[in-house]
Amino acid sequence: MTLGQALAAARQRIDRLDARLLLQYATGCTHADLLARPETPVIEPAYAQFVEWVERRAAGEPLAYLIGEAEFRGRVFQVSPAVLIPRPDTEVLVEQALARLGGRERPQILDLGTGSGIVAISLALECPTAGVVAVDLCAAALAVAANNAGRLGAAIECLAGDWYAPVAGRRFDLIVSNPPYIAAGDPHLAGDGLPYEPQSALTDGGDGLACLRRIVAGAAAHLQPGGWLLLEHGHDQGAACRNLLTAAGFQSAFTHPDLAGSDRVSGAHL
Ligand code: GLN
Repeated sequence: MTLGQALAAARQRIDRLDARLLLQYATGCTHADLLARPETPVIEPAYAQFVEWVERRAAGEPLAYLIGEAEFRGRVFQVSPAVLIPRPDTEVLVEQALARLGGRERPQILDLGTGSGIVAISLALECPTAGVVAVDLCAAALAVAANNAGRLGAAIECLAGDWYAPVAGRRFDLIVSNPPYIAAGDPHLAGDGLPYEPQSALTDGGDGLACLRRIVAGAAAHLQPGGWLLLEHGHDQGAACRNLLTAAGFQSAFTHPDLAGSDRVSGAHL
């Protein structure tokens, strides 16, 4: 079996780009190797690994869980089935957060439900004077975040617990969160790859706003005067989030779209 033959066979089963990436990860060859020397033999155990991955991808398992990594804002993060796979939509949350850090010398940031740590780590690396605390209820997820922070050189504090519980008595300049916000039973949960992701990171098991409500409710007690709360949410939850924020005494509530033009991030300040 050659690289070219293995690739051609896989392309019959799965997406072309996924086939190429899986072959590169299984064999250690580059895209250039595949183009220049497709006659190179694929040896064991790489071939068996590649065949197994193609089968699992064909059955619906996401590419990121097979290769154990995914990219976010140009950085490679390790992922496991304990964490959501990074979405490009979440870049909006990071951008909106960075835009609100100006003027604070050593901003203190809290990321609730950090998962793989993409938001906390991106903020720590892109605002090097910031102090960043990352919280997650799931110990396995927090271990992924801590590992990513170490590999990427981000000094963040990782704390296990339920939303604000691990930061009792502490106040921040900015709180960010990408919580579970899909309503129970939403057909989106059955979409490509989602059944393989941690359901507790996707859905609140209720109307989709349960976690957003809890985060808004606890924010004032954990923000400095003037501090911002920024939330990622579903495409149809912008108005509900702005209402929650305003009802909790926040000012200047806004909603910002993602790259596809859907409402994705809302925020406000005290
Ligand atoms: N945006 C993700 C999706 O639609 C959901 C992420 C989340 O629930 N926090 O798949």
